[in-house]
Amino acid sequence: MKKSAITPPAAQALLRIVLPVPLRREFDYLCPLPLPAPGCRVKVPFGNRTLVGLVLSHPQQADIDMSRIKPVTAVIDNTPVLSEAELQLLAWAAQYYLHPPGEVYLQALPTLLRKGEDAGYKPVEIWHLLEGDSSTLSRAIKQRQAYELLQQGPMTPGELAARGVTSATLNALAKKQLAEKRECLPDRIDWHSHIHINEDGKPRLTTEQALAVSLLQQAGGFSPFLLEGITGSGKTEVYLQAMEPVLKAGKQVLVMVPEIGLTPQTIARFQHRFPLPVCTLHSAMNERERLDAWLACKDGSAAIVIGTRSALLTPFAGLGLIIIDEEHDSSFKQQDGFRYHARDLALLRARMLNIPIVLGSATPSFESLHNAASGKYQLLTLSQRPGSATVAEHLLLDSRHVQLEAGLSPQLQQLMAEELEKGNQVMLFLNRRGYAPVLLCHDCGWLADCERCDAHYTWHKSGNRLHCHHCDHQRAKPPHCPQCGSLQLVGTGLGTEQVEQALAMLFPQYSTIRIDRDNTRRKGSFEQHLEGIRAGKYQILIGTQMLAKGHHFPDVTLVAMLDVDGALFAGDFRAAERLAQLYIQVAGRAGRASKPGRVVLQTHHPDHALLQDLANQGYRHFAQTALEERHQAGLPPYSYQALFRCQATQGEACREFLVPLAQQLIPALPATVLCLGPFSARMERKAGQYRYQMLLQASNRRDLASACRRALAITDTLAAARKVRWSLDMDPQEL
Ligand code: ADP
Ligand code: ZN
Ligand code: ZN
Repeated sequence: MKKSAITPPAAQALLRIVLPVPLRREFDYLCPLPLPAPGCRVKVPFGNRTLVGLVLSHPQQADIDMSRIKPVTAVIDNTPVLSEAELQLLAWAAQYYLHPPGEVYLQALPTLLRKGEDAGYKPVEIWHLLEGDSSTLSRAIKQRQAYELLQQGPMTPGELAARGVTSATLNALAKKQLAEKRECLPDRIDWHSHIHINEDGKPRLTTEQALAVSLLQQAGGFSPFLLEGITGSGKTEVYLQAMEPVLKAGKQVLVMVPEIGLTPQTIARFQHRFPLPVCTLHSAMNERERLDAWLACKDGSAAIVIGTRSALLTPFAGLGLIIIDEEHDSSFKQQDGFRYHARDLALLRARMLNIPIVLGSATPSFESLHNAASGKYQLLTLSQRPGSATVAEHLLLDSRHVQLEAGLSPQLQQLMAEELEKGNQVMLFLNRRGYAPVLLCHDCGWLADCERCDAHYTWHKSGNRLHCHHCDHQRAKPPHCPQCGSLQLVGTGLGTEQVEQALAMLFPQYSTIRIDRDNTRRKGSFEQHLEGIRAGKYQILIGTQMLAKGHHFPDVTLVAMLDVDGALFAGDFRAAERLAQLYIQVAGRAGRASKPGRVVLQTHHPDHALLQDLANQGYRHFAQTALEERHQAGLPPYSYQALFRCQATQGEACREFLVPLAQQLIPALPATVLCLGPFSARMERKAGQYRYQMLLQASNRRDLASACRRALAITDTLAAARKVRWSLDMDPQEL
């Protein structure tokens, strides 16, 4: 009798993993031994797809019926791509934000790793010399030159091409067995043992700076600092000197900057002081660049990492200090998907790693001021500018009852003329690009409205188009009114394009540059414009927010904000805080060097308390008053909020989901939690979607979290939940 071969069941055990699916749960799979460690990636079948998942643990028992458990398709990593500490951070984040864990964990991985790519550097091709008799090259001049070049060390084909060496020449050398092309990993510099600090350009610290630096350098373990320093007070110098002992100890430093702050100038400043591997992480990098930078953080070959929001989720071999510059900036909060706040998670990360963290700003967020006042953060203050730089004079210009020309009052034009005549630069700030924010028919009142949003199109005269700034929809400007046929289509309101045009008429002898998203789209054009401004090519600058942040223009002596009145009466309770931050930021552009500066705010409400406070008393005073108001009203940071957002192509579908959710939730809430809504978003329809929301507000975080969990449990029972797109936003920044 023939014996059939019995294959013993392969030794297998359970894996608990997370998958990139919008479900608030983990998944169990079977895997042959030895099991991949937590933090390794696996490929698994899911429905009729194969997904890349991340191993969290090795459970003894499955959370579903064993017969339904499937085996993994493949194990991708031998060693974890995320360490225990990073897994712990992400587990905490998933809990705190009550977000589907798979989306949280996988957010920490570069796209290529999410797709299952090897967690390794891409090998590069290099040419190097082989042992051999090079005397045969005496007559082949090109080959001789290439040979001599390679005697200095191996080079990539690109480097050789840049020096005029063709591949034909190289192939000829290869044929003679004098050189060969080989793949190898890029050089990783071991910087830890030979740290050099460039003393060139290192200033003598002011007393305030010296105090801040010494407190930071002595900080051991988890210690959060708020560095509140007026624009130009030398915060960056404080960061640089605080980094010294950390780098000398061979530890890495993470510097987080807002989206718009990551300029070549910023990077150059760090690189100049520390000739060490500096690596950047931001959204404009391609997938491969991101993965390589991510690996350099993880394996420790990057000493300094400068990055935007997502850099916070990157693994580090040995992080010793976190710096968050412009900590109040709203770009640190992710506005879709996993809506985390990088500053808040950075604090958690610093606590877990037991390292210091510095939050720096000229206009700290109210949350941070509150934390400093309550003693959670140590406050460091820089109230003066080093050297001879003077602090600007602030003026409120009443624009009531005066004839404005493209938004400029005669008084402002007069001030501009005075500065321009002295050879100084003038900067005008208007946070609205395009020609006019509204196009209307003079005869019948027709308005050019976006079909997909509750919003007007902005008229862009250059290109003769209408552009919706909310959904990005564009169309040609109609030649006549679609309603009555009139040719009298006129723009109302003011955009940067219009001001630029008017300036050319008002100040024809001076050249003007406009800086906004429309004319800085081309890569490098923003930098080019900035260069032109610094070189004095332009005398008048007109721009949006882009111009307001972080750029130093020593010859600007007059800064004017043309129209911020809208923000004074916006419904969002954070609007005043944002306006104040913007105002101070813009004001910071004036009088940075030895020339005294003026800051002008043109307004129809010169008596408004907020503006008076800002212009006469400064940000700190304003913040104290505004914080007191928040306290009275029980608003954050004196309470905590969570927002259920919902959208659908029909408003009715949103209400069918949110109304029963609120109805079932409210009776179960403790007295500490308020439920507001459902109500429509400020702009009800955007990009064809109706948007509704429900706000929970609580006096303490624990009650807020349990109310949210209860609400999430209710959503599981509502069939209407599947007909809409909804999400939960913890600590929403925009209501
Ligand atoms: P902030 O980041 O607070 O706006 P910066 O760090 O950019 O300020 O400093 C503003 C300018 O002052 C920079 O040109 C910087 O080199 C210079 N600076 C900083 N500290 C000193 C100092 N102690 N003495 C002289 N110049 C300084
Ligand atoms: Zn009309
Ligand atoms: Zn639109």
